[in-house]
Amino acid sequence: MVMLKVDNINVYYGAIHALKGISVEVKQGEIVTLIGANGAGKSTTLRTISGLLKPKTGQIVFEGQNIAGVPAQNIVKLGISQVPEGRRVFAHMSVLENLELGAYLRSDTKEIKEDMDKVFSRFPRLGERRSQLSGTLSGGEQQMLAMGRALMSRPRILLLDEPSMGLAPLLVKEIFSIIKDINQTGTTILLVEQNAHMALSIANKAYVLETGRIILSGDAKELAASEEIRKAYLGG
Ligand code: ATP
Repeated sequence: MVMLKVDNINVYYGAIHALKGISVEVKQGEIVTLIGANGAGKSTTLRTISGLLKPKTGQIVFEGQNIAGVPAQNIVKLGISQVPEGRRVFAHMSVLENLELGAYLRSDTKEIKEDMDKVFSRFPRLGERRSQLSGTLSGGEQQMLAMGRALMSRPRILLLDEPSMGLAPLLVKEIFSIIKDINQTGTTILLVEQNAHMALSIANKAYVLETGRIILSGDAKELAASEEIRKAYLGG
């Protein structure tokens, strides 16, 4: 079943035409990745899906409903949650307070507590540091916190913007294995990455963006094996 269908969207920043007819499909249960160089339009695509930007033309259909132009907080309520590039945790608030903020649109106290426990069992380091100010966490821990905060809204689909950015290789591996696990426990994932190698290794399907257009798409394993992708994105 197609969960999210981005259909031929055009998005502008003032006079800058950032997305030129982007179409992306995500089926329920999949990991889909958007890869491509800096400035290709990957983050803009995620920000448009999550309601931070409005497409000038085109549709975004989530579970049968057109959500293009719907305000961001309503998008979260529908079950779409974004982990922004650069994590953006609230540095002067504790780990616990950041996680509580992720649930601010919910009122099901008992389930919120259960989800908090799940976050702490998925990310034990966050549990150990629950009272610590978030700004004092390492980059990897902040990434985990940003993911945990997004999970606190109980998303049906999680939008991840460059989760590996600035992390050491071992941590990148850890983050990717957590993403895989989140997917296997029932959350659909749309992943934006510059680390094409890692992204293709966990994704079902991939789209390659270049200057606001999709230039290639298909099965992630097939794309990882293609000569064109290897040359352009995987260092030979
Ligand atoms: P990155 O990895 O650098 O985030 P990206 O593929 O996510 O790259 P976008 O950030 O979506 O690319 O940028 C797409 C285009 O839109 C680029 O040309 C960029 O310069 C432009 N752009 C992005 N944000 C803004 C903004 N706030 N105002 C004006 N132009 C912007």
